[in-house]
Amino acid sequence: MLRLHDFYHLPPVAEYVRQWVDEPSSLALICGLDPQPTQSQRTVPSQRFSGRVTVFRLMVNEFLAGHPGAVCMMITEDRQLSRFARQFRDQAEVLLVDGSTTYEDHVAAALEQGPDLLVIDPLSAFTLPPMMIAVEAGLNVLSQIDVPYRGSAVFHQLAEWGLPSEGLGQTLSLISVQHVHGLCPHCRQPATIQPEHWMQLTRRYPDLDQNLKHLTRASGPTESGFFFESRGCPTCQETGYIGEKLVFDFLRVETPLLPPYQYRSQLMMSDYLLQLAKEGVLSLTD
Ligand SMILES: [Zn+2]
Repeated sequence: MLRLHDFYHLPPVAEYVRQWVDEPSSLALICGLDPQPTQSQRTVPSQRFSGRVTVFRLMVNEFLAGHPGAVCMMITEDRQLSRFARQFRDQAEVLLVDGSTTYEDHVAAALEQGPDLLVIDPLSAFTLPPMMIAVEAGLNVLSQIDVPYRGSAVFHQLAEWGLPSEGLGQTLSLISVQHVHGLCPHCRQPATIQPEHWMQLTRRYPDLDQNLKHLTRASGPTESGFFFESRGCPTCQETGYIGEKLVFDFLRVETPLLPPYQYRSQLMMSDYLLQLAKEGVLSLTD
């Protein structure tokens, strides 16, 4: 069974995931832009997949692995998504939305049973009202949302769908995810960063050096101090890239005092990208 640690590269991700498993937010949202489940994956170029659905499924696994005996209920229209890993099937109950049942019906059933985790898939303008009922009733809800935004910008979409401007008054976690191409390890070489480019970066990220230190691996490759680029070789079919990497953004709002969109992510995707660039996994120019 795949676990989330197969997909991330930086230690802070493990800390944020563990925090959510130990103390789930009232509402946790996995954010990213993926094709709709009904769309044939063959018709969509791979770079359009953010990896959101993968992370969403893995977060359910992380929760159940961290809480043996806990009960998870999933409300979804997507039969494929509702297949749980074999070792968790006894802990999971699927409530399929079809022609005769609605999200509202299933949320009412979930409120009666009180699962340890309620998964509502997906979050949309139609599922937000029943989802808010579940959150306000005190259930821990996990959902996924198809948006091109990350971090607190996602709240603008939620406000458009009717989330009150002061938020839900509950703990919220947003985990945003994006796919990027990895540099080919066979032909990568230290990149020459033009002084103007470096100045642009430090203007945009004044705490660049500090953030890079904060994110650096505790063990593993030592800091090279270089960024990398690749020109292409036979192994990568002259593209300079091999494989896909997932990059993350984590935002957790504990006791909302401000409108939610004013909060800053604890782990920003831009910092995550920069650190991977520094480790030679990505190109700085990408
Ligand atoms: Zn190559």
